[in-house]
Amino acid sequence: MDIETADVTGHDVTTITCVCGNTVSQSGLIQCNSQGIPVYIGANTAIPAGLAKWPEDEDLYTLCPSCGRVYSDAVVEETATAPVAFRVDVAASRIAEAIRAHWQLST
Ligand SMILES: [Zn+2]
Repeated sequence: MDIETADVTGHDVTTITCVCGNTVSQSGLIQCNSQGIPVYIGANTAIPAGLAKWPEDEDLYTLCPSCGRVYSDAVVEETATAPVAFRVDVAASRIAEAIRAHWQLST
């Protein structure tokens, strides 16, 4: 089975061009946890409804909200390549709600 790999510049997850063509400057990329649920970046305040808390083990992933492909930050940082770690259904209510919550905070 072929593993899909996104383009990435150096070891920087924010430079990923997703397999579907999305980038940070297009539909954006969202930091998420190992279930693909977007995380809240603030550590010491209440977590907004819908978002997951920052993983204590710092096991972070980058979610493409367009297609649901998820990349492992650790793999990108270590190898400068961005294989697709797993995929989530961005239309599933738990994920869709978290994506909405994420954008509400950042706009
Ligand atoms: Zn994508």
